[in-house]
Amino acid sequence: MSVFTAPDFDGHENVVFGCDEATGLKCIIAIHNTNRGPALGGSRFWNYDNEQDAVTDVLRLSKGMTYKAAVADLDLGGGKSVIIGDAKKIKTPDLMRAFGRVIERLNGKYITAEDVGTTVTDMDYIRESTRHVRGKSTGSGNPSPLTALGVFLGLKAAVKHQLKTDDLTGLHIAVQGVGNVGYYLCKYLHEAGAKLVVCDINKTSLQRVENEFSAQIVGLDDIYSQAVDVYAPCALGATVNDQTIEQFKTTIIAGAANNQLAQDHHGEALKEMGVLYAPDYVINAGGLINVAHETEDYDVEIVKAKISKIYDTLLEIFQRSDKQNLPPSIIADHMAEERFKGPFEAQAAE
Ligand code: NAD
Repeated sequence: MSVFTAPDFDGHENVVFGCDEATGLKCIIAIHNTNRGPALGGSRFWNYDNEQDAVTDVLRLSKGMTYKAAVADLDLGGGKSVIIGDAKKIKTPDLMRAFGRVIERLNGKYITAEDVGTTVTDMDYIRESTRHVRGKSTGSGNPSPLTALGVFLGLKAAVKHQLKTDDLTGLHIAVQGVGNVGYYLCKYLHEAGAKLVVCDINKTSLQRVENEFSAQIVGLDDIYSQAVDVYAPCALGATVNDQTIEQFKTTIIAGAANNQLAQDHHGEALKEMGVLYAPDYVINAGGLINVAHETEDYDVEIVKAKISKIYDTLLEIFQRSDKQNLPPSIIADHMAEERFKGPFEAQAAE
């Protein structure tokens, strides 16, 4: 198994392997960068095919957290942890407490939170061993409405830049996936006067947005070719790919999904086509911003004020993208690096 020579290794500060024989815990915590503050990132419980896949995942995800926290202007670095195994079979309160002890040994350099395969209840068990954990069953609750708020504001920034208007009235917006985030995004958009075209695999979710927001329902594969002003992917990753890119009639892509570009070159292709792309990790940072503030003095109004900055950040990214003739996805990475790289690293990169 390789770490230092793994393709996704990016000078990570620490990669810690944790084990607890009594509970069967096997975990890896990757701390990518802590220049801005302790590394925050969720704990993913996943039945990896092999240990190398777990290393690859934790290296890649922790690096992503550094960029996301930096662009969101949080005093946090990037980290992530993975617990290896089938959560349905091996997850117990004792295993989560043992995982908390691994985190505790890092003295606050890594802070965990919920992710795929872990719940707020698990965070409560972890908290019995360490205070370096965010999100709990009595905490701020479902982050999706706040993620949706950030996406809504980011979408408005994209409309402002591309269509030169602050008014969404009458604009046609295609929302792919009307689950937790998609539903609330539709709510905001409907209230702002936009006309919605939606798709989902879940009929109940579709009916809800049809009834509440007069959304028009289209087939799963038809969403890409809709003659709309904005395409908002809120379901799957990699929906901007070789097959879909030719179908788009929109000039704006702004949605909640993670990893929207199948490959980096799709960001360049969108720019060449004149389609404005709001980088996913910038526009969907509302949930992270919320978790970051989930401390004893949690105040949702402070969180909302912080989330509202997504609008300005995206406008700046779009302006720099035009000026430097580079895709917004690349500009976002540059902006993050400017914010998290220390003077030494910045100098070395020159
Ligand atoms: P969710 O599971 O609640 O909703 C996803 C919806 O997409 C579901 O209704 C599902 O039925 C639908 N869907 C699945 N496959 C589909 C397909 N092929 N076509 C159309 N619809 C399909 O998830 P969510 O929490 O709303 O998150 C949506 C996206 O945003 C995900 O990519 C997630 O990673 C990302 N995201 C979410 C948050 C958050 O706070 N929840 C934060 C950041 C990013």
